[in-house]
Amino acid sequence: MNKLFNYFFSFMWILLGIAILDNKKIKGLFREYNFDDNNLYIFAGLGLILFGLIWFYTTFKSRTNYKKTIEYSKCPKCKTSYTYSDLKDGICPTCNIKTIETQEYFKKYPKELEDI
Ligand SMILES: [Zn+2]
Repeated sequence: MNKLFNYFFSFMWILLGIAILDNKKIKGLFREYNFDDNNLYIFAGLGLILFGLIWFYTTFKSRTNYKKTIEYSKCPKCKTSYTYSDLKDGICPTCNIKTIETQEYFKKYPKELEDI
């Protein structure tokens, strides 16, 4: 939900930037600033659009938060279980390959459940 809000927020910045480029003025909550006599509106508009894009990108990249909810991960090669915080980018330190979330692991290798 927080992420959705961030996406919405970044779009607001971009839309505001476009509106400034389009109208050459800021119709703010507090007062109206008119850029008619100079070209600062280009910088203001592009700046806001850029800011919105950076915000959007940051929000998009923050999907790593999802990984923090995964507690256990298992290496398909050496069969070692790790907690996700032990791993860097989910890579097994011994085999240097990507580990699989435990739940997904047993979906992929259901036979190994019998060995436990
Ligand atoms: Zn391994």
